[in-house]
Amino acid sequence: MSASTYAAETRRRRTFAIISHPDAGKTTLTEKLLLFSGAIQIAGSVKARKASRHATSDWMEIEKQRGISVASSVMQMLYREHVINLLDTPGHKDFSEDTYRVLTAVDSALMVIDAANGVEAQTRRLIEVCRQRDTPIITFVNKMDREVREPLELLDEIERELGMPCVPMTWPVGQGKTFGGIMNLRTQAMTVFEAGSERLPQDFETIPLSQRDTLMKRFGHEFETAEQSMELAIGASPEWDHEAFLAGKQTPVFFGSGVNNFGVMEVLEALVDLAPSPRPRTSHHAVNRQSVEKTVNPEDPNFSGVVFKVQANMDPSHRDRIAFVRMASGKYAPGMKLKVQRTGKELRPTSVVTFLSQRREAVDEAFAGDIIGFTTHGGVQLGDTITDGASLQFTGLPFFAPELFTTVILRNPLRTKQLQQGLAQLGEEGAIQVFRPQVGGPMLLGAVGQLQFEVVQHRLKAEYDADVRLESSQYTGARWITADTPAELKSFTDAYPQRLAHDAAESLAFLCTSPYDVRLAQERFPKIHFHPLREHA
Ligand code: GDP
Repeated sequence: MSASTYAAETRRRRTFAIISHPDAGKTTLTEKLLLFSGAIQIAGSVKARKASRHATSDWMEIEKQRGISVASSVMQMLYREHVINLLDTPGHKDFSEDTYRVLTAVDSALMVIDAANGVEAQTRRLIEVCRQRDTPIITFVNKMDREVREPLELLDEIERELGMPCVPMTWPVGQGKTFGGIMNLRTQAMTVFEAGSERLPQDFETIPLSQRDTLMKRFGHEFETAEQSMELAIGASPEWDHEAFLAGKQTPVFFGSGVNNFGVMEVLEALVDLAPSPRPRTSHHAVNRQSVEKTVNPEDPNFSGVVFKVQANMDPSHRDRIAFVRMASGKYAPGMKLKVQRTGKELRPTSVVTFLSQRREAVDEAFAGDIIGFTTHGGVQLGDTITDGASLQFTGLPFFAPELFTTVILRNPLRTKQLQQGLAQLGEEGAIQVFRPQVGGPMLLGAVGQLQFEVVQHRLKAEYDADVRLESSQYTGARWITADTPAELKSFTDAYPQRLAHDAAESLAFLCTSPYDVRLAQERFPKIHFHPLREHA
């Protein structure tokens, strides 16, 4: 393959995450995007799949009980010769770690906002992560068919919360019962709203804004008000600047109603026209024990990628897991020999799949930006870098120091082996953080959200037949430990034997019972580094 082919394949890829507060309409919008790109034929199938997942997998019972989405998923669609990879994110805050990791695998984000509620708590947290990474954000203001807030007020709020200017791309005429449609600022035409989920995007009537008399006659007062507020919005926002958007410094805003198929096409077009193709990634790998920085370009011919999610197969009778790899460069072709950089071992997947909206299919070929799933029986962890040979280590996949801890007590001591296997695998998946105290004794589980414990307890029983009791622990925090020299590390570990534990990646952690612990330990050992975040194994 020639260099220009790699570049062309990279250029036509878009990989984005869809983020929102629960109930804003993320699932509905996802489904409509798939529908209008032709990836699925029947509306309702994304929702149906959500439902069938509940039916077929035992451990998803928790998800059903609580009406939340535990697992995030990947869907691919083709539109206008572009390969669009959509990554869903779990909405519940207790699984925010998963979401953060998904956000490391994308080049842009689509933010869905409920026009009645504005920017809600969970969206706010996601925005923070996008901001840290300068991820470009496209904004969709949903549910305009309902009685919602004034568009100017919403724009104001989004701007404040995002800390960046909004640039309206469409503008609503009325809302709720009087919702007349949206004016498209680019095409200078109004698309007329009609309720219903049967209509295809091209079936909506459009009227050029130049036919003002017609519009005034049909929409009267609503149209006039919309014209005025649009004027104000345009006056208050900067000119559209594509570079500024790509740098995460302004967001294009679209209005619509997902459930009515309305305003969705504009978003799909924006994903092709505005959203970025895969961007270079940075590797920090060791050469002769020195950390070397290298920029890996997506059009580099050599395969590289990073595992941003590991998920147990839904079928409890099989122990295999899927490692989701975001490709950073090169091409994947079946039969390729790949290496896990952390261990230096060859990766031997039982199958390699791609995620075509509803189905999983064997991969023919994949390029930078694509997500491929390696089905394995182990040997792959979250954060692993996989290449076709080159020594690389991508950073940036975050593990947050847990704030909640429990100890695990097995009810039936004869199931120790199952428990250990279960904890090792769930730890590798990132479902929970598992700490093995240096001095022995029961394992410690660390989480960012309480629900993670419940999921793990449930899964240990359902998948590993290990019935456990979780007991609260004295610990309230942890810091990962590094030192500049082995001698410094030794004097530290000698001083705190009771407080040390290793996590699933064998990284050393210091457990604390109060924030003062870390301060005191730091004063005693100024040369030890205490990290609240671990980026890779
Ligand atoms: P998610 O939790 O963000 O995935 O939200 P869903 O897509 O499941 O939608 C939550 C609820 O809002 C569902 O009952 C949808 O039918 C409804 N909904 C989604 N989009 C719209 C919309 O544009 N207008 C109205 N009125 N309801 C909507």
